[in-house]
Amino acid sequence: MSHNYGDCYFCGGEVVEKIVELEYRWKGRLYIIEGVPVGICQQCGEKYFTAQVSEAIDRSVKAKEIKRTVSVPVKKYIPVEAI
Ligand SMILES: [Zn+2]
Repeated sequence: MSHNYGDCYFCGGEVVEKIVELEYRWKGRLYIIEGVPVGICQQCGEKYFTAQVSEAIDRSVKAKEIKRTVSVPVKKYIPVEAI
């Protein structure tokens, strides 16, 4: 059952719940949490979390269990003018 997020606070767009991979920084490290239900504005992309989901994210990040570890290549930003 998906949560009713109402309209987007910023643009009034429709907010639809999706199950996403969430990037989360904690104590200087980047974590990815899979399978998180997030309300996403269809117009501007703003993300909305219910209080329950926020709490669950917090708990998931602090949990000892690590599902798997992936390496993430970091790229340098090259402005268009520099090309
Ligand atoms: Zn919006």
